[in-house]
Amino acid sequence: MSKSITCTRCPMGCALTVEEAGGILAVTGNGCPQGEEYGRSEYICPVRTLTTTVLVTGGAEPLLPVRTDRPIPKAMLFDCMELVRSMSVAAPVSAGQVLLENIAGTGANLIACADR
Ligand code: SF4
Repeated sequence: MSKSITCTRCPMGCALTVEEAGGILAVTGNGCPQGEEYGRSEYICPVRTLTTTVLVTGGAEPLLPVRTDRPIPKAMLFDCMELVRSMSVAAPVSAGQVLLENIAGTGANLIACADR
């Protein structure tokens, strides 16, 4: 089995191919060692940083940009978005403030990206 992955560790964006045979992963197409590590981790458990907005009550602006403070498993993005969609925060909020700890059991916190 093989998978094509674009490395996002730097602007070069190398086109990686990860092939699995007999439980061994082989990464090709990487321009540096970081790409091999990235390809392996994306093949085994792809992760993404969740970025979105939440509703703000009592503030001058209705939406607050938020993100997780670390990447979360891609498979958990939908569950986390459901949680975020159902929440609102009361102004004032400061950039960097933790709004939700350990979102959906991922170990990541949802933090504010701006003051509101
Ligand atoms: S493999 Fe290395 S050079 Fe290529 S995109 Fe990834 S980090 Fe950049």
